[in-house]
Parts: sequence; C-alpha cells; structure tokens
Amino acid sequence: MENKLFERLIEEVKNLGAYKANVIAVNKISLDRAFRNMCETNACGVYGKCWMCPPDVGDIDMLMAEVGKYDYALVYQTVTELEDSFDFEGMVEAKKSTYPIAQKLRNVFKDMNITNALHLGAGGCGVCEVCSKRTGEPCRFPELAMPSLEAYGVNVSQLAPAAGMKYINGQDTVTYFGAVLFKEN
Ligand code: SF4
Repeated sequence: MENKLFERLIEEVKNLGAYKANVIAVNKISLDRAFRNMCETNACGVYGKCWMCPPDVGDIDMLMAEVGKYDYALVYQTVTELEDSFDFEGMVEAKKSTYPIAQKLRNVFKDMNITNALHLGAGGCGVCEVCSKRTGEPCRFPELAMPSLEAYGVNVSQLAPAAGMKYINGQDTVTYFGAVLFKEN
C-alpha cells in the first residue's frame, strides 16, 4: 500500500516538472537551528519582509518540532541549466519555476485524500510579487502561502543525499529542492 502511494506521489511530482523525487522517512531529515541565524544576517534582504520568512514564520524550535509530527517526506528537486555561473537572472527564473510545482502538489495531495501535509518550498513564499508584509497588511493568500525548507531548519545539503539525490548537479546548472511532509490518513 505504502509503496504504491509513494510511487504515485513520485510520479505525480515528476509529471509536474521535478527532475528527481523520492519519499523518505521524516526521521532521516537533518534539522539545524543554525539556519535561523543565517536568515538573521539578512543576506537575501527579505528578513522581516515576508510573512513566510523569519522572524514572522515562527519560532525555529517550534517549527523544527512540527517537522517531527509527520511520518514521511516527498522530497523533490528541479535542475535548470544556466548560461554560465554568473547567470543570476537564470537562477531567479529557475526558482520561480518551482513555485507552480509546489502549488500544484497541494491538489495532488488533496486528490489523494492526504490532508495532513506540510508543504515547504525553495526559498521565500513566491505567491505574490510583493508580500503584503512590506505594507503591514495581512497575508493575502494564507491557504497558498508557503515557507521554505530552511525556515523550518531543514539542512537541504543533507536532505539531498538522504533522498538519494545530488545537492549540486553539474557546472552551469542550478538545483532547487522542495518537500511535502505528510502523515497517511
Ligand atoms: S501569500 Fe503573498 S502575502 Fe502571503 S506570505 Fe506569501 S507572498 Fe506574502
């Protein structure tokens, strides 16, 4: 039963555009609160400017504890070719291309009647061009808003091998990861 369910989830996310996917036990996921410290340095410039990013996404210890409430994780990756290693525009576009996959997965899980699921994407929320946090308004789409793996303390460089994937997939490519944590109903 589980194998059939996992196989179908893997197939579905690949059909949506993932390069590779796998289902692993949640206890194989490495968590580290140090990722919150990295967010606090605001290297990306979005700290405190998105409801789904720190500090607004929530306390790191509570979020890491939440991860442990699920049994399995559908882990997937996208790999996109770049013009060269300085193709920052290509990297941004590649990240944007992961958002529709992450959102369509919500319907896949609903259709399969898996309602107890936590969807985590590749950096930032990505639903709105400009998050309403910047203007002090409530989240416009709380049912679609999606935090990142890192916001929950997931060590993505260790998640990749745990799911049988490479963290980096060759010169002039960029790889992004997403995951859906779930419990079988
Ligand atoms: S859905 Fe829009 S308003 Fe809500 S967190 Fe995401 S980007 Fe911000």
